[in-house]
Amino acid sequence: MPKDHLAGAQDHYDVVVIGAGLAGLTSANILARQGRSVLLLEQHYKLGGLATWFKRPGHHTFDISLHGFPYGMVKSCRRYWSPEIAESIVQLTGIRFDNPMFSLTTSFNRDDFTKLLIDQFQLDPNTVKEFFDTARGMNFYDDQTTTARELFDRFFPGREDVIRLLMEPITYANGSTLEDPAISYGIVFSNFMSKGVYTFEGGTDKLVGAMEQELKKSGVDIRIRSDCEQVLVEGDKVKGVVVNGRTIKCDAVVSNSNLMSTIFKLVGEEKFDRGFIDDAKNVRVNNSSTQVYIALKPDDPLDESMGDLFFTSTAPTFNTDALLSRDITSRTYSMYYPKTRPEGRPQKLIVSSTNARWEDWDLPEAEYEASKQDLCETTLDALDHYVPGVRERAVHVEASTPRTFNHYTQHMHGASFGTKFEGLAVSRALPQQIHGLYHAGSVGIIMSGWLGAMNYGVIVANEVDSTLMTGGSASTDAAERAVVADASTN
Ligand SMILES: Cc1cc2nc3c(=O)[nH]c(=O)nc-3n(C[C@H](O)[C@H](O)[C@H](O)COP(=O)(O)OP(=O)(O)OC[C@H]3O[C@@H](n4cnc5c(N)ncnc54)[C@H](O)[C@@H]3O)c2cc1C
Repeated sequence: MPKDHLAGAQDHYDVVVIGAGLAGLTSANILARQGRSVLLLEQHYKLGGLATWFKRPGHHTFDISLHGFPYGMVKSCRRYWSPEIAESIVQLTGIRFDNPMFSLTTSFNRDDFTKLLIDQFQLDPNTVKEFFDTARGMNFYDDQTTTARELFDRFFPGREDVIRLLMEPITYANGSTLEDPAISYGIVFSNFMSKGVYTFEGGTDKLVGAMEQELKKSGVDIRIRSDCEQVLVEGDKVKGVVVNGRTIKCDAVVSNSNLMSTIFKLVGEEKFDRGFIDDAKNVRVNNSSTQVYIALKPDDPLDESMGDLFFTSTAPTFNTDALLSRDITSRTYSMYYPKTRPEGRPQKLIVSSTNARWEDWDLPEAEYEASKQDLCETTLDALDHYVPGVRERAVHVEASTPRTFNHYTQHMHGASFGTKFEGLAVSRALPQQIHGLYHAGSVGIIMSGWLGAMNYGVIVANEVDSTLMTGGSASTDAAERAVVADASTN
């Protein structure tokens, strides 16, 4: 008989959280600390969602999405998780760029970027200062019609090299393009520029393990291998969920599943107003990624002079289409040295990441496998330029594609960063459509990435708590503004 992963679960909870990505985990933890009974459902066999890792023989542990996040994670982890988690966050200082326009190394903060833009890119110091101040002053509630391209044209007309320096890492960090609203660029860029790029010492496995301990302390009922099939709605109210064939009742649902799956698969479009569904149908799902995971021998001579995060491209100029193309010209290498996991066996790993489109990987099986193999081979060729002889030095090489991300998270098209900007308004409008139904997870660029997803989990948890307390009449604008302000000032 198959194992019952819901054995001992109650028939009713205050809140059911569907999905254990960083937003779902954070919402569950906050709600349980606030005294709510919380059931956390995860369809996969481990917690973390895209914040994940995998192990291979030879003591290699590969991180999938631990490449860098802004300093704001320290504050969010301390407030909403634990001081111990916050204390493991450390800075990455070796950020490198190499492309036909420029090669440089930076600590990726405002002081260093200002110096680079004035000394190497020969820009007027006042223009640079004004640009930084403008980006810093942007917030969530600002004008959304100005695009990132218009912002750059205002400050640096004709300077494609400057646009590349400023935009390429953010495109990598959240999938945003020059056509997206300038605020989705400005907020994330300023978050990084405030203090640089950070990582979690000990790896994603340590972080998610520590979070699991906190969730247990908070009293969350955690269930893995529990695939939520349906959110039950009666009239305009959430009544419960169907999971692994069992019905569990609840007063509120926080879905950390992709926004589109939440609306169209878990609830069903017939439960919403026509106008809302029209808006939802216009939401664009964000792009996905490919990665190549390369393990070197622990005693390989690769040293920290290679840097921590290395943005490389052979494309003559910055161009979103080229960044997404299957004909890869841009690769971002993350280096993992023994310092990444000081407590484990020493390891030297390189993960090459590239933004990617689902269509390019939605192939018949044999073609798909061949394309994956080609991805590994061409990546080794490209990396050889920086790590000579890498093909012979590598002891393990494998690749993931948009299909891999879709398989493990059920995200439509394997989206790495949820939806485009318009998804945010649709996500926020869910509880107005169905009382007790919330979505927390990567949407709208700003609320994606480790920090964005976590902070969105905080906003939604406060909203749910307040709704449960008042029976639905509470406004959480103040809570939302406080968290968004926090996210924007770290
Ligand atoms: C290759 C790659 C590299 C990245 N690099 C970085 C980086 O360096 N820095 C950074 O900040 N961000 C990075 N990101 C993005 C970041 O990982 C994500 O934005 C963030 O982790 C998403 O969190 P989330 O809460 O939205 O949910 P997700 O992590 O998407 O998790 C959603 C969870 O819901 C579960 N689920 C879905 N449907 C159901 C269901 N019906 N029933 C039960 N469970 C369900 C899924 O299994 C999953 O566990 C990267 C992403 C990728 C793919």
